[in-house]
Amino acid sequence: MSKIDTPVIDFHMHPGPPWLPTERRLHKAVNMKEHLEQLLLDMDRAGIDRAVTMLLDEGWFQGNAGKRLIALCKKELWDERFIFCGMFDIFRPYEANDVLMNVENAAGMGVRGIKIHPVLQRITKADFPNLQLLVRKAEELGMFVVVHAYSETIEEYDNMGLEIVAYIAAKANVPIIIAHAGGIDFSRAVILAQRFSNIMIDLSYFYKLENMLDLNMTLRWGISILGVGRFLFGSDHPSCQAAQYKERMLESLKEVGLNEPEIAMIMGKNALRVLGVTK
Ligand SMILES: [Zn+2]
Repeated sequence: MSKIDTPVIDFHMHPGPPWLPTERRLHKAVNMKEHLEQLLLDMDRAGIDRAVTMLLDEGWFQGNAGKRLIALCKKELWDERFIFCGMFDIFRPYEANDVLMNVENAAGMGVRGIKIHPVLQRITKADFPNLQLLVRKAEELGMFVVVHAYSETIEEYDNMGLEIVAYIAAKANVPIIIAHAGGIDFSRAVILAQRFSNIMIDLSYFYKLENMLDLNMTLRWGISILGVGRFLFGSDHPSCQAAQYKERMLESLKEVGLNEPEIAMIMGKNALRVLGVTK
């Protein structure tokens, strides 16, 4: 907890190695509890109060896995610590009703966000109208949307995540989070967020670009355009260990010249606004 009594919220964590085969085993109930316990230990060690937890397997909310997960969190009194963000099938038009029903069920169980991952879900432009249905549903249910948007090569200038954000931001008034700050396309992410006030930028995995970008200079520029109110602390734990990542970020935010209340905004206060806890 910071002195200013704002919780530290990591807006981008994963329960276990963030790869689908592991997650698929998790939702078959094998080791689900152990993985969440491990995540809680890692959060405690890093001084993180709440985790927006990404569930990357679309199967979580098609069957009973999601129900078991939520029941476990209730039983263990973990609901205050985890905020779940589920991923749903990218569907063909005739499957829309089923998928949107899964979203409704998940929201009914307390899932707060929808994750869109163009790489894992192999999203193409042909899917955009269906994504729009998903995002409209999120708007109706008061959910937020996290879009994976990361590239680290300037040679292949391609960032489908940012194209998705540009498309959906114009069409629905939900909080849209650009995950990993757009990677090498940070400037494009910032300019998009300048155009649409419902876009937020999560800084997870971003510090991996340290060897390619002057991150402090880049971040200072981004904050000068958007203000501190539009950035979220996130780590992408466990691919970036939350404890180290948080230290690295705090160091950078200080070097950028932010004061304590401003740092508290990025570390948790802005997230409270996205989660609807504060205005
Ligand atoms: Zn991630």
